[in-house]
Amino acid sequence: MTDPIFEEIALIGIGLIGASIALRARRDGLANRITISTRRQETLDRAEELGLGDRYTVDAADAVKDADCVILCVPVGAMGVVAEQIGPHLKAGAIVTDVGSVKRSVIDQVAPHMSDDVHFIPGHPVAGTEHSGPDAGFATLFDERWHILTPLEGANPVAVEKLETFWKQLGSFVEIMDAAHHDRVLAVTSHIPHLIAYNIVGTADDMEEITKREVIKFSASGFRDFTRIAASDPVMWRDVFLHNKDAVLEVLGRFSEDLAALQRAVRWGDGELLEKQFTRTREIRRGIIEAGQETAAPNFGRYKTDPD
Ligand code: NAP
Repeated sequence: MTDPIFEEIALIGIGLIGASIALRARRDGLANRITISTRRQETLDRAEELGLGDRYTVDAADAVKDADCVILCVPVGAMGVVAEQIGPHLKAGAIVTDVGSVKRSVIDQVAPHMSDDVHFIPGHPVAGTEHSGPDAGFATLFDERWHILTPLEGANPVAVEKLETFWKQLGSFVEIMDAAHHDRVLAVTSHIPHLIAYNIVGTADDMEEITKREVIKFSASGFRDFTRIAASDPVMWRDVFLHNKDAVLEVLGRFSEDLAALQRAVRWGDGELLEKQFTRTREIRRGIIEAGQETAAPNFGRYKTDPD
């Protein structure tokens, strides 16, 4: 237990990310009160059953009125509407942040609704799973994962530092970067890999000569890892691609060229090129394991029977 960082946190949206913040903040006493808001009564009731907060409301404007930290945990495409709802009701001096996977678009949607007396500091926890909803949350989700803050020019350094401290207490390492840079980096490391996974799983499903039974039966190889990623929330990922269009298309262009080079190597039997490429990529995985961002355990540390 540490001293509370905030008097009251308001979480707008209570799915995987919102619930994980709530559970950790409660566990470690990072706020004296947690108010939870989500658009559907059904989700709100579930959050209450799980004991995620102290106060529950479907009215986002009501949720934020006493909060000194407001965290928007809704899909990227819903940020603007939520910001419009809460904008006039925010407490002077409040910190408003978000957890959206795209930053430039969230800034464009949210900033126009923020008055000068609140501190809007966008953020993105680079942590997640393929599960969604309040039941998916867990208190250790952010442990040793990066949280990227993309403060706007002229952001109040005291507010930025306070938010940084909060995320560190949630378990994260914190990095500060420019929103456009964030969007390009994440296009490579997260968005394109998801698009590839959605694509390969869709392709396998479309290939009639490979029945679904065989796809499932023999999926112990690489395909299974793609299916895990391709099971990620469709609405969240739809919004990521709609809102990080430029960076995704730029990286996808590079990816397609490189894929064509590999295709050519396969066609012409260029084993040297293939081996060189595969050796290079193996080193990258080693680097990720050494940085503590993945386990070296065989099969990603999963049990043989683990349905995940
Ligand atoms: P989630 O589990 O699907 O929960 C989404 C929450 O947003 C729910 O409370 C839902 O409310 C609400 N919501 C959905 N559509 C809405 C709309 N149109 N207007 C208002 N509220 C809406 O999502 P999540 O995985 O926590 O993701 C939340 C945010 O975190 C997204 O911006 C995502 O990009 C980001 N993020 C996700 C991950 C990940 O791995 N999942 C990782 C990092 C960042 P109801 O249930 O009441 O409809």
